[in-house]
Amino acid sequence: FQYAGETQWALKNINLDINPGDFVLLCGPSGSGKTTLLKMLKRELWPKGQILGHIEYGDINLQDISQKTSAQEIAMVLQHPESQIIMGNVRQELAFGLENLNYPTNLIRKRLADMSTYFGLADKMDFSVNILSGGQKQVLSLAGAMTMRPAVLLLDEPTSQLDPVAAQRFLDMVFRLNRETGITVIMSEHRVERVFANSDSVIILDSGVIK
Ligand code: ADP
Ligand code: MG
Repeated sequence: FQYAGETQWALKNINLDINPGDFVLLCGPSGSGKTTLLKMLKRELWPKGQILGHIEYGDINLQDISQKTSAQEIAMVLQHPESQIIMGNVRQELAFGLENLNYPTNLIRKRLADMSTYFGLADKMDFSVNILSGGQKQVLSLAGAMTMRPAVLLLDEPTSQLDPVAAQRFLDMVFRLNRETGITVIMSEHRVERVFANSDSVIILDSGVIK
């Protein structure tokens, strides 16, 4: 992949298979292409530029994935919770994705009850998102992404803004999700030592190339 207007390729000779249910750790120094690679896996996030080759999601060419399938099945949690959270309170934030896809109200209510319990947000449903800590906001982003019951969860350095305790708590939730639901997780992370033992495979990027 080459960003529009650039002469260098941000990603080069990427050839990679990820199995359903895998926990994949993506690491590499700043500027090595982690964010770019993660964005390549979600059609709506493709940056402007040139892609050579293709990305297959099951038997779908990602180029042709429908917006609905992508929204339902491929979830992404970004580095900065602020850039992801858009609603006023926790309940609205959790309901947002499902409402957008026109899920029936009773299903939304049931799904929110399940998610809020699983992620420890049940007593915070009416809280304004503004009063949440950074760690709680990131958990809310994760819970919001999971309301759709996606098959793939992409996380881009999700703990980089969190203190060590909140970071560990967040990572433990992601490990547990992968273990208990079988969701495929692809996560870039700079605190590699905390994630290594829980990963099925590790991708090391350097200047856009897999090492
Ligand atoms: P990482 O997430 O590992 O820090 P990035 O994927 O953000 O790396 O960046 C990979 C390379 O692509 C870097 O050289 C960066 O400067 C370049 N890059 C990132 N975003 C853009 C953009 N929007 N336009 C042009 N170049 C970009
Ligand atoms: Mg990045």
